[in-house]
Formats: sequence, structure tokens, C-alpha cells
Amino acid sequence: MPHALVLIALISCSVYSRLWAEQAADRQATPLASQFSWHAPDRGAKVAALIPGRRTPQLTPETLFADWTKAQVERWNKEHPPLPAAEAYQQYAATAPTDAELTADFPVHISPFGRPRGKGSEGPPTQHAVEKADQVLVSYCPFCGSESLSLAFDPKNPYGHATTNCCRTELYASEKDWPADYALKPTATAKFQHLDDTWVEVPCTLHRDRDGTEWELFLKTIFDHKRWLEEGCNRVRQYAQKFEETGDPVCAHKLAVILDKVADTYYGLPLAANNKLCAGKDGKPLTRDEWEAVPRPAIFEVSYLGAWSKRMPYSSPGWLNMMDEHLWVEPFARVRHHPAFKQVSQELYGDPEALDRKVMTKLLRELSLMFQSVFSQKLLHNYQEAIYLDLWMLGALLQDKVLLDFAGPCQELSMYNHTFQDGMNGEGAPNYMDMPGGYYYPVLKDPKGWLQYQPKFLEDNPFYWAASSEMHKVATVRGLELEFGDQHEPCFAPNFSSDPAQVRERERIGSRNWAGYGIGLIRVGGPGHRQEVGLDYTRATLHNAQDALSLECWVDGVPVMRKGGYSAWWSNAHLQWERPEYQALKQMGYPHEIVEGERAFDGWSWIWSHSPLCQNTVTVDETAPGRGWADNRGYGEVITFKGGEAAGEPGSGFQVLDVRDHYSWSRVGKEVSDFRRTLLGVEGPEGRPYVLDVLKLTGGQRHAIYNNGWGERVSDNLPGVSGKADDLTQVFFDGKLPEDTPDYRNYRQLRKIEKLAAPNKPWDLTWKADYAAYAPRDPNGKPFERPLPDGVGQV
Ligand SMILES: [Zn+2]
Repeated sequence: MPHALVLIALISCSVYSRLWAEQAADRQATPLASQFSWHAPDRGAKVAALIPGRRTPQLTPETLFADWTKAQVERWNKEHPPLPAAEAYQQYAATAPTDAELTADFPVHISPFGRPRGKGSEGPPTQHAVEKADQVLVSYCPFCGSESLSLAFDPKNPYGHATTNCCRTELYASEKDWPADYALKPTATAKFQHLDDTWVEVPCTLHRDRDGTEWELFLKTIFDHKRWLEEGCNRVRQYAQKFEETGDPVCAHKLAVILDKVADTYYGLPLAANNKLCAGKDGKPLTRDEWEAVPRPAIFEVSYLGAWSKRMPYSSPGWLNMMDEHLWVEPFARVRHHPAFKQVSQELYGDPEALDRKVMTKLLRELSLMFQSVFSQKLLHNYQEAIYLDLWMLGALLQDKVLLDFAGPCQELSMYNHTFQDGMNGEGAPNYMDMPGGYYYPVLKDPKGWLQYQPKFLEDNPFYWAASSEMHKVATVRGLELEFGDQHEPCFAPNFSSDPAQVRERERIGSRNWAGYGIGLIRVGGPGHRQEVGLDYTRATLHNAQDALSLECWVDGVPVMRKGGYSAWWSNAHLQWERPEYQALKQMGYPHEIVEGERAFDGWSWIWSHSPLCQNTVTVDETAPGRGWADNRGYGEVITFKGGEAAGEPGSGFQVLDVRDHYSWSRVGKEVSDFRRTLLGVEGPEGRPYVLDVLKLTGGQRHAIYNNGWGERVSDNLPGVSGKADDLTQVFFDGKLPEDTPDYRNYRQLRKIEKLAAPNKPWDLTWKADYAAYAPRDPNGKPFERPLPDGVGQV
């Protein structure tokens, strides 16, 4: 019948329309049908009501927290006799830290800390500081050459004196602190143009490092930066929290005093990233005129200036929402209706409303300019930032429609964008699930969080509970998280559980398949030797690896087949073997030679950890499936999952996970007609676990399967050695890479190769692993003490 209808429609539109009209009339005749009809007159309105943000309340600067602040005042006044406003002002101003202490020499300039002599500090921002100019006095010490600089600030004079931990060089902020023979006295000044078009003069110390590079060092700026973060930022948080808890008006007073200073500084701060400042189109320091004229809002692309920050120049540039660029907004919103706030304004400006106007126009408006032009995540929703409450409040105070329309709905949108059909939050790896898990989901259910504004949020989004909690089950018997995707994998995680009762409890949990995450975990075996083997078929992109149908294996909670994880290259240490701290590292007795992982996106540690060689999967003609950072991934379809019985229950001794891959090979140009992996978990006598891995691959010329053991070989029963090679390039390519690419260079990392004769009988190989083998050592050379009880962590 449907075919006939289509035919009629093709031949005669009028017949089709008549049929359609009759059917529509039928539907209108039925009350129930009309209620849910596609054609119901109110359908559009009903759909529109479901659009994220439609249930978000409309805030205004007049009403936001006005009642709340009033209630805080009343609450305080109940137990404290009110003082006349002027008298209260004097009392609060003298309360320690006094207003004079908070405001004297308040920092106005916080970066750069240094730059190569004669070169400006303007330039394009860099996401990861890897150049010495980015790192000087941040992680590079120009006095001794260490690339792991840290400073010990003098507790008696934290804004005046510090010592480098590497070479014990004393640093001082200003003349009143430095000793007579101080070698790093500034002998010059440098001028920096600020965004309020003033020029700030900074004392400059000239210094030549061991490599002969001449530096201009701005030591005072290090201390001003510290004071800015502590006094201009953290202290605001502390007063705001105390005000919420107690209603104490001294907090409202101090917030007013600090915000008055912060507004001036923030307005003037140049856009900064590491030791760089933002230049305008002409390559000269950015001016207020050009900054005001930058096209806004930058919604889909960052503006031509690039991604920058002001509040925290040494964090990831442009991550404004995640790094709380706007941390002052809520504290301000909660005290601006308070009489003590208005009294500060009265005393400073002779007008109780002047300070409010100043903070609005100099601080909040400036924040809005930042978010609408140099925000690295743009005005696009991103789960890594997820909670946009402060940005929404900023929009409300400024009545800025762009910010309100973007940030209001985001709270709800995160639920839709980052929750699968099965109600789970799936972000490619447990530590990425933790990002919304840590600062998004908790705020949504907190009565002092999002529920203040949208009280029915949890009823309206019932899948909240699975989305926020399922990820916590992706854990093994000793409490460590599974290691799929870009998971951070510690050599030794302190939360590795040694508690027998906890482990016995977790050993009872059966196999599990999370189709939404694209991972399945076969669990078999009795107490003390529970085996957990993960088969990963994730289709998540970005934070992922060449991991189609890859394995991970855990025995008694000890990872024995690991997958490399994130291996973030910008965190790799530069191993300066000539330095004493690295010589000490060498003496610490780690089981294997320590080698440098390189510090670039094509550095070998990054390429290796994301490769099939590390990920326990296969290559076809030395080609791997897509890595996840391009649109070239396939996905896995679960054919059979049999499992889930608690340990010891009938059926728990036989578990199956069978997954077929789709498109992983065709998307990298390989003709493969079948790619399928099946895990069979069987429990033998005395609870001994066996997991059989059946891999089926049809297509291509040469297949290689990689199984990567995290341990030491103790015994084997293998066919005879028929040949040896220095590394895998000798075996596959006669030592000459088909192309000199990072992916091919990977094969050099597999060294000391033995080629074995074809087996004519079953063979076996035994590994042992000690989870504590890479546990931290004492930096002062005390003999290593294994941090786990005997027998725990050793399999
Ligand atoms: Zn040093």
C-alpha cells in the first residue's frame, strides 16, 4: 500500500493532496491524535518550549540577588546592633587586613617576567609554552639553566623575596628589600603599553645565561603577579564565601575596596599569554582604540588577535571560562546591593552608585569584550567548560543579549550534547568524562548551584543520574580507572587499593558492556586472581588513539596490558643529564633506562602511545585505523554480550563479548571485508581465569597483531629463534622506512627483536608485573621502600 501511495503522488499531485487532506481530517476528529499531532496548531509552541534555555529564568541587574542580599543584611542585623553607616565604614576599613594594606601599591602589571634582550614581548600566543622565551622565569631558570624552575617565596615577605629551588638564587622585588651586594639589581627600565593607553615602567635586570642568551628580566613583576592572584583574585573568593556563610558586612566592604582596584588593573592589563603580549595589526602594542574595534561577537572563530587571557597570563591562553577569567562576577553580584558596598562608594566617590557603575563599565564590560573576541573556545558549547553560570550572570548584569543567549541555555545543552541515548556521559576516556563529571554534574544537582535558578532541572532531565554516575563504574578491582582513549595513566596511582575487604567486594562485580562508551569488560576468576580484559570499540573522536578493537588486561587489579593513554607531550620533562637533579633521578633505581619523550605533537612518546603497537590492536600492511584526531574513524557493533552475573553465581564462569568493526579500515584506505574480535572468558578449577581472544581479519596483504606486556618476562616455552634484528624496521622494511614519518619512525621503538620459527605445537610465555615497580623514590637517596604490602600489586 505505501508503494501505491508513492506512485499516486508521482502521477498526480492532486490525488495525493486529497488523500493527505482526508487523513488529516480523520486525525483532527480524534481528540487523542490531535493532542500529539504533527499538524496540531500548538505543535510549534510545544516544540519551542523544549528548546534548551527556554526554561532558564530571565535575570536582571535590578533583581539578581537583591532579595538574597537583603536577607543576608537582616540575618546579620538580628544578632548585631546596626551601626551608623559612616562609623561602620571606619570600623570595617580598620579591620585587618586594613583597606590601606589591601590597596597600597596594588599590582597593575603582571607579565612578562622576562624576554630576550632587545626583542619585544609581542607575538602570537602559543598554547603550550615550549620556547625558552615563553618559559623564562616560569619554568626556565636563566641563572643555572634548569628547565624545572620553581620558586620558594619567603613566608615573611612573600611579595618581596623568593629563592629559586634549583640554584638558590635570591630574587627581590624592590630596592627596600635587596642586600647591598645584590647582583641582580635592575640597571634599566622597560616600558609596556597597557590597554588603558598608559605606559607602565618596569625595572629591568640584564642577564646573560650560560648559553650566551642575553635576557631582560623583570623580577618585580613575578611578585606583582603573585600578589594579583592572591589579593586581587583568591581573596575575593574568600570574602565572597565568608559573606555567603555569615552575612558579615565587613566582607561586602572589603569586596568593594578590592573590586575598585581590580577594575582599574583589569581594564588596563594587556592581553597576555605566557611571556607574550598581544600586538595590534601594525605589530605594535595593542591600543584601546583597536581593541574596542575588534569585530564582535566572535562566535565560530576566534578574532584575528588570537586566543589570549588577562587575569591568568600563565595558564592556557584563551581558556577564559574554564580558568575563571570572570571570577569576580558572582561576588560582585552578591554584594552590590549591600549598604556597606554603597558606603565604600560614597566615601571614595561621593556617590553611593559610582562604584557599581565603575565595576560594570571597567571590569564587567571588559570581561564581555574578552569573551566575545579572544575566548579560545569561542561562543560554542564545550563540555570541557560545560558550566557557564558566571558567564550567564555576566550577561545578566550587563544585559548583554549575546552572552545571555549563549550561556543561559548551556547548562541544559550540556545534558543533551554530552549525554548519550542511554543516558551516559561519554567523552572518550575516564579523565575526560571527569571534566563534566567534576564541575558540571555536581553543580546541576546542588541546591546552591543551578537549582537556585532552575529548580525543576532534575525532574526535567531524568537521565541526569545515569549521565553523572555511570562513569564511576568504569573501574577495576583495586579501584583504578580503565585506560581507554586519552586517559592519564600514572605509573603508580596512590588510590591503588590494598584494602582486602574493599577488593573482595569489587571482585564480585560481573562483566559489563557499555555500548555508549564503546567498551566492554570481561571479568572472570576467583578471589585474588580476578582477571579483567577490556575490549575497546569506541567511536569517540578527538581524545582517542589508533585503537579499533584493542585490548587492555588487568589481573588482580594490576594493569598488565596497558594502552599508553594521553602521554601529553608538553608535560614531558627535558632530561638535563648534566644537572644534579637528573643525575639523582638516574640513581633512583627505576627498572628501565629513562629516556626523553620529546616535546612536540610529532614527538615519539605521543605518536607511540596513540599507535596500534601500544594500543594492543592490529595493522594491515603497516597501516593502522584512524587515530581520532581526524574524521576517519569507524565504529564497533556488539554482536554478542553474555555476562554480568556476580562472581560465583551460575553462569559467571562463562562470559562472551563479540564485536564486529565497521569502516575502520575503509576510512584509512584499506580493503578489509571482515574485522571482528571475540573474547571468551572461562573460569577453570579453583577459580583460575582464562580469556580466549579470537581475532578475525580478512583483507590486505600483511597482518600484524601487537600485544604489549607491562611487566618482565620470567619464563617461556617458544619455538626456536630463527633470526634477530635491532628493531622492527629491520624486519618490516629492511631498515629503510617507506617514508620518514613519525608513524613509521615508531617501528624503531620496538627493539631487540627475535624472529621465531613457525610453531608446530602450543607455545606459552609468562610475564610478571609489580604495580609498585615505578612507585616514587625518595629524592634524597633513601633506599626504595615498596609502598604496598607484600603480595599486593604483584602478579
Ligand atoms: Zn636555577
